[in-house]
Amino acid sequence: MILKKILSVGLLLFFLNGSSLFTQGLIPSYIITKGKLPQLAYSSGEDRLGSAKMGYIDTSIVMKVIDTVKNLYKVQLSAMHYAFIEKTYTQPFPDTMLSTALCESWHVKGGSEPGSNLVDSVSFSLSGRVPYKSWMEIDPSRIKIELYNVQSNINWITQLSSAKAVKNVWYEQTESDVLQITIELMKQQHYGYSIGYNGNTLQLKIRRLPAGIQKMTIAIDAGHGGTNLGASGVSSGILEKNYTLLFAKELQKILKKQKIKVLMVRETDTTIENKDRVLWAKQNNPDIFISFHLNSSGRDSVRGVSTYYKHIGFRSFSQSILKRLLEIKDLKEFGNVGSFNFQPIQPTDYPSCLVEIAFLSNKEDEKMILDPKFRTKVANQVFLGIKDWIRDWK
Ligand SMILES: [Zn+2]
Repeated sequence: MILKKILSVGLLLFFLNGSSLFTQGLIPSYIITKGKLPQLAYSSGEDRLGSAKMGYIDTSIVMKVIDTVKNLYKVQLSAMHYAFIEKTYTQPFPDTMLSTALCESWHVKGGSEPGSNLVDSVSFSLSGRVPYKSWMEIDPSRIKIELYNVQSNINWITQLSSAKAVKNVWYEQTESDVLQITIELMKQQHYGYSIGYNGNTLQLKIRRLPAGIQKMTIAIDAGHGGTNLGASGVSSGILEKNYTLLFAKELQKILKKQKIKVLMVRETDTTIENKDRVLWAKQNNPDIFISFHLNSSGRDSVRGVSTYYKHIGFRSFSQSILKRLLEIKDLKEFGNVGSFNFQPIQPTDYPSCLVEIAFLSNKEDEKMILDPKFRTKVANQVFLGIKDWIRDWK
């Protein structure tokens, strides 16, 4: 009993000590986001790709720090909501009383972007930059945005007839400091959107229906490269980085023959960080993004092809590609995998799909990967999958 008491006093002291880190200035009370591609996460949990991502967030957003876990800050989004952010994407912000921002007028219009991609834009005027989260919904197709630490002062939503992708916009103040925005889309298919601040105005740019495959720009990402070797073949010892490039080049050849514009993340054996692949893609603004990888498992009997997506709005794209790949003789199904946190397919800006063609850790799969005819076939089937997906657009 006494022992218990000592223990609990000890624990209490430990916690008091912990909280004094704030007063000692070791943990800032407030942070401001900075750097390239700061990202919010739902938890501090980890799998090999890190914790489940809430999405990218812009820079210069101030949030209150409520805790620190490993390399993360737990930050307050609103009275009831919090998130985690890597410390490297923050810097301390002078102590301040964060006041609740007001959301004012909205503006919906059509327009054209440099690079000839037609977009609709929706802008939300705010009295200050606040944290946000966005996501896609399907059937009906919608983009949802949640703004935190904000109250509605909205009495003016202008919608111009030049808008072609947006059908309706509305909002609900779901909590006293949370505003939920709904953007209903004309088309069933999601083609991607970007979101970020311009001053204190939050801007959403929604990609419209591309005018057929001939007008599209397709980005191909050969996984790994340079010092990042990836997996290796169980019998042959071949490296994933070299073979993803061979598959990528096969698809490049097919698309070029069709006079379709192709962008290659890499064409040589170079090291490119996954984050730089995202920055590169966001800069080059492709209509679709395909990433090739070769799988590996601790169990050598595991084999087959799989496709991966992060956002539900892009699932149909990865399904179309998988369906065609499954037509290849002897290629088994490993499955279609969602909510995948692999960085190159995180952006909402364009539909993306990661293809794990087959397992290098399985002898039968490895034999196929080594066969040039199989590589041509895979590229062909991916091309057919893209075409099917476009044909099925509604
Ligand atoms: Zn890989």
